[in-house]
Amino acid sequence: MAKKNQKIMTARYAYSRLWRDWLKEHYVTLGFTFILMIIVAISAAGYAKFIQIIISAFEVSSVTVIWWGPLGIISLALAKGLSQYFQIILQNSVLSRMQANLQSKMFSCLVNMDLANLLAEAPAAFSADIELARASTTAILGSITAILTIFATFAVMLSIDWALTISLIFIFLFAFGPVGIVGAKVRKISVDTQKEIASMTETVNEGLAGIRMVRTYRLEKKLTESANATFERLFKLRIDLTKWQSSVSPLMEILGAIAIGALLLLVALRMKSGAVDLAGFIGLLTALGVATNPARKLGASYAAALQGIAALERIYQLFDTPNKIKDGNFEFSPEKKSEGHLKFDNVNFLYPDGYQALHDINLEIKAGKSYAFVGRSGAGKSTIFNLLSRLFDASNGVISLDGRSLSDYKISSLRDQISVVGQDSILLTGTVLDNIGFGRDSASREDCLIAAKAAAADIFISNLENGYDTKIDPSKIKFSGGEQQRLSIARAILRDAPILLLDEPTSALDAQSENQIRKALDELSKNRTTLIIAHRLSTILDADQIVVMDKGRIVDQGTHKELLERGGIYSELFNLQFDLSPQNKNENRKKSFSGSNKNNWTNPLFRLSKYLGL
Ligand code: ADP
Repeated sequence: MAKKNQKIMTARYAYSRLWRDWLKEHYVTLGFTFILMIIVAISAAGYAKFIQIIISAFEVSSVTVIWWGPLGIISLALAKGLSQYFQIILQNSVLSRMQANLQSKMFSCLVNMDLANLLAEAPAAFSADIELARASTTAILGSITAILTIFATFAVMLSIDWALTISLIFIFLFAFGPVGIVGAKVRKISVDTQKEIASMTETVNEGLAGIRMVRTYRLEKKLTESANATFERLFKLRIDLTKWQSSVSPLMEILGAIAIGALLLLVALRMKSGAVDLAGFIGLLTALGVATNPARKLGASYAAALQGIAALERIYQLFDTPNKIKDGNFEFSPEKKSEGHLKFDNVNFLYPDGYQALHDINLEIKAGKSYAFVGRSGAGKSTIFNLLSRLFDASNGVISLDGRSLSDYKISSLRDQISVVGQDSILLTGTVLDNIGFGRDSASREDCLIAAKAAAADIFISNLENGYDTKIDPSKIKFSGGEQQRLSIARAILRDAPILLLDEPTSALDAQSENQIRKALDELSKNRTTLIIAHRLSTILDADQIVVMDKGRIVDQGTHKELLERGGIYSELFNLQFDLSPQNKNENRKKSFSGSNKNNWTNPLFRLSKYLGL
């Protein structure tokens, strides 16, 4: 009972909130829709009343009916048809608006949501839930028309003969009640039969698949007994099903005959007493026919409304999820940007699924220096980047920027201090110029062109059909990885943020592109705190500091020279992999860690590249 009440409460809450937040504003249109629904209901019920009137008129003079009879019927049908048409159009315009608003709100929620929530919730149901919410609202509005029609026809029936109307309803219930009960029984036995078939298949398959065990342990008898038991249960269910199923048709016939008999008796009695005439009786039957369809629709609407509650609950949950990442107050200004001094103090981080990706990270990143992060795939390098942009917050420990915890900063201001150049760059609908301009709100066309030139993007953009004004359709991106990366560098140049997070591409670029990008990046990282997830030997060698990561921990740190001298894991692996004799030095410098190493664990270069996550 409590559960039932809770369901009613939830339904009330779900739909009253839907009304308050998404439908109420359309009250004028919905008001018109309601008036049209009333016209639909009255014209449907009026049809039954009109039939009674026509037949009565026939009894008096069939000649006059020829004139107004057909006209009346056509007018009623026209009134009903046109009202229904406009009602559906108005109703759908409101529902489509509601749907678009829900989609827009849902999308903005998802875009702004904590990454932790976003990853945990997997918003796969994005369109399905909104579709369900819309379908259930359509069903509820449809059921309003149905209820109005049932009431109107009931009123018509009562006006013809109240006693006969009430008796008719009882007869109706008497005739269809038992059929409904039998139907439910048949459905239950069908479900049980399906379950039993599944269990039988499992017993047989498992028994035969494990036949060697069965033979070895001489379980044949036991297995056969248990299989026979399912065959027997299935046999009984099938007999039951047949009994109940075959009872439906005779039951309907018998009950139907009893109902008709009772009806005829009642009608005869009422006619005899003069309470109703033949016209009235036919009017009653017509009204019953008119009400049947809406009554059937009500059942289906109920099911749709229940489905809608679950969808609405999920939608509201999404709307109501508060962001775990809280905004701070401290802001940088365009005149006074961050110095770019970062510090990790005992930072641990667990992903929402509980996986600990970082353990006790202690690291100081000095302003204006470059830090190469190396380590195999999954070592936690990207996680460090995610924490710096506050896509996630550290589970414990403190990350500070210029001596202040990241959580003290206004998130937008913090993110303004950071440029990210990744392996993939997001492209939005708009021109190429717009896509560069996203780097800074106030950027002029001139600024964008300068940035594009500095990023070595100018040549490929000039070769496009409309140069910088070429429209980009994100669903049909035609840019290569290198081109996208150059756009993303141009954006970062424009942004001019003091901290640069750089995720080097693993895929080999052609030599010319690589050279151009290298130069652009060198230029970009000058005087900026630069953190690089390094995949190239040249980057690692040029970095001020190399941070070696493994399984979420920093296992070593220093310059290339220091790391080699210290004789830790890095140097061990490095010496193992590279013959640094002078004649080979240049050759090795050119090599990419992700280059064409043979996929072979006996190849030392391959082993180093694997260790370094390349
Ligand atoms: P790297 O950048 O060094 O390859 P990451 O920082 O991407 O490593 O990942 C570190 C660890 O965290 C990996 O084991 C990875 O599987 C795990 N991880 C990354 N993202 C998630 C996530 N969203 N949920 C759970 N675990 C994750």
